[in-house]
Amino acid sequence: MRKTRITGAFAGIAIAAIALTGCNSGSPTSPGGAATGDGGDSNEALWEVASDVSLEGSPTFDAIQSRDKVIVGVKEDQPGLGFLDATSNERSGFDVDIARWIAASLGYDEDKIEFKAIASANREQAIVNGDVDYYVGTYSITDSRKQQIDFAGPYFITGQGLLVAADSDIASEDDLNENTRVCSATGSTPIQNIKTNYPEVPTEEFDLYSACVDALINGTVDAVTTDQAILIGYAAQYPDEIKVVGEPFSEEKYGVGLRKGDDAFRAHINELLTDGGDVWQGIFDKNLGQSGITVEQPAVDAY
Ligand code: GLU
Repeated sequence: MRKTRITGAFAGIAIAAIALTGCNSGSPTSPGGAATGDGGDSNEALWEVASDVSLEGSPTFDAIQSRDKVIVGVKEDQPGLGFLDATSNERSGFDVDIARWIAASLGYDEDKIEFKAIASANREQAIVNGDVDYYVGTYSITDSRKQQIDFAGPYFITGQGLLVAADSDIASEDDLNENTRVCSATGSTPIQNIKTNYPEVPTEEFDLYSACVDALINGTVDAVTTDQAILIGYAAQYPDEIKVVGEPFSEEKYGVGLRKGDDAFRAHINELLTDGGDVWQGIFDKNLGQSGITVEQPAVDAY
């Protein structure tokens, strides 16, 4: 039995890699990434994988099958992680490709994925409501979130950092005080950390980190705080205006957010992550390889 499971998982890896290659080779001028060439063959292969991996009794997979579409919650304003290019309408980023990989392992190609942008504060509710089948978007595994939802993973580890104006004197979290206005997203772990551990620091909150970055560039706040992996993406967008400073001052383990109690679905994703080191590395290299971030794939600890 164990042998069958391993075979299935490796088949999934090979096929997911094909699916990702397909995404890469899509013409940037043709939004939507419609399947071309031998799409029929690859679909057939994808379905083979779905029947190989035990998703029996998974309410999430049942819902996916009956609507014949995967609905994935993502971010779309975080370059390198979860991003929607308004001009080409293309989605990109490490998290988006992890989401595509999971969909491929279930037998669903790009044209059968509906992406829904969901802000940090609304993630648990979206999962509880069944608005998304799973969520992949810089989503830290925490005990309080686990009261409402489950996580597969972790699939990535980063830590809270600071983004400041290029000419700022703020060099680390030690320089935060009652005169430094710090911006972060509502419902995020970084804003909670500031409120709890730096209570004297004035905070500003928006739904989206991109709004905080605008506020930083406009000078209405002095720092943006969230995971360093996110901040590095913004700094690369505006290298002359903003910079990342200091060392990470928390540990954020990213998980795939799932409906609570769907153990079959969680086990499927955990197995995919565990056995799919090569695919993970390919996704990392493609999206974050040039970023300066050096991270190894963390071991799945089934949270
Ligand atoms: N990883 C942190 C969190 O889950 C911050 C990033 C985010 O808000 O998505 O809250």
